Amino acid sequence: MSLKDFFIALSENQFLNNNAKKYGLKMGAASVVAGTNIKEVIESIKELNSHGISCTVDNLGEFVHDQSEATAAKEQILAVIEAIHQEGVDAHISLKPSQLGLDIDYDFCYKNLKEIVALADSYNIFVNFDMENYARLQPSFDLLKELSVDHHNIGTVIQAYFFRAKEDIEKFKNYRLRIVKGAYKEPAEVAYQTKEDIDRNYIELLEYHLLNGKFTSIATHDHTIINHIKQFIADNDIPKDKYEFQMLYGFRRDMQIELAKEGYNFCTYVPFGQDWYGYFMRRLAERPQNLELVVKQVFNKRTNTILGIAAASFALGRLTKRK
Ligand SMILES: Cc1cc2nc3c(=O)[nH]c(=O)nc-3n(C[C@H](O)[C@H](O)[C@H](O)COP(=O)(O)OP(=O)(O)OC[C@H]3O[C@@H](n4cnc5c(N)ncnc54)[C@H](O)[C@@H]3O)c2cc1C
Repeated sequence: MSLKDFFIALSENQFLNNNAKKYGLKMGAASVVAGTNIKEVIESIKELNSHGISCTVDNLGEFVHDQSEATAAKEQILAVIEAIHQEGVDAHISLKPSQLGLDIDYDFCYKNLKEIVALADSYNIFVNFDMENYARLQPSFDLLKELSVDHHNIGTVIQAYFFRAKEDIEKFKNYRLRIVKGAYKEPAEVAYQTKEDIDRNYIELLEYHLLNGKFTSIATHDHTIINHIKQFIADNDIPKDKYEFQMLYGFRRDMQIELAKEGYNFCTYVPFGQDWYGYFMRRLAERPQNLELVVKQVFNKRTNTILGIAAASFALGRLTKRK
């Protein structure tokens, strides 16, 4: 098992998720998660706005199993929208359909999303549907299509590792799309597996949507691809209001500020909330160098507790699977 698989397995462990919540932001998570409550995230947004950077806010949430959890997530997102409006900050919303009940009941999820999208629409705030694993891909697109009958303040994500990504871009070319490489572990039947294939498809999709689409969010920390796309944009006279660069909060901060200073539209993805653990583990899976963040915290007593639980639980999970 690779280090990437190891961290993805940890991110999917509900027991660890529940335990991590009790401890607040630990293991270095505070450098990539902008606080645990609305007040803290608004402060982070204001700081980023002061550099000319706009934000997309993700109220972190994992493992939503019943309607009351999904309703609580909806209420929290509505409160974030109110706070963005009242504080007048430059920010919009990113959410995950599973958090609003997609795995429980499609119609229930639709109603929750409708409430969120309608409130955001009334304040002229954009809502992005983040994309999760393959099983949730088509239902998420279906929700987007249904909701866009009445609302135009919504868009979604295209994950370049999927074979079907080009087809989906074509179908959704009139939407604002964030294009990413893809963060989940997907089987070879549906997704490219090598970095070369994913990077090649990623560049092809970015170029295609920049030329043919409504608006492109170029979401990557990969400087080689960013430099390639900057040249492509210049060569093809892509207007500034048709694209932006996006990166995650806490990653390559100098480059984020530099791109904004160079005059590019830049948007930082700002996650916050008590449910930080799964998000943090997925970031470690993408880039094991981020482990440095953890190592720096290693003498923290509570961190050791969580890491201890993580290691034990992971080992237990492996043993159980072998049976
Ligand atoms: C704003 C945003 C939103 C996202 N939304 C989604 C989503 O909805 N669904 C989804 O599946 N995925 C999402 N992702 C995650 C995405 O799919 C990738 O998993 C993630 O961005 C890693 O790929 P990458 O292109 O950034 O760079 P990688 O392919 O991980 O790295 C390429 C190269 O870039 C450089 N590099 C990368 N990171 C760093 C760093 N921190 N410091 C220094 N150098 C670095 C290194 O040279 C590295 O070799 C999102 C990503 C971003 C940025």
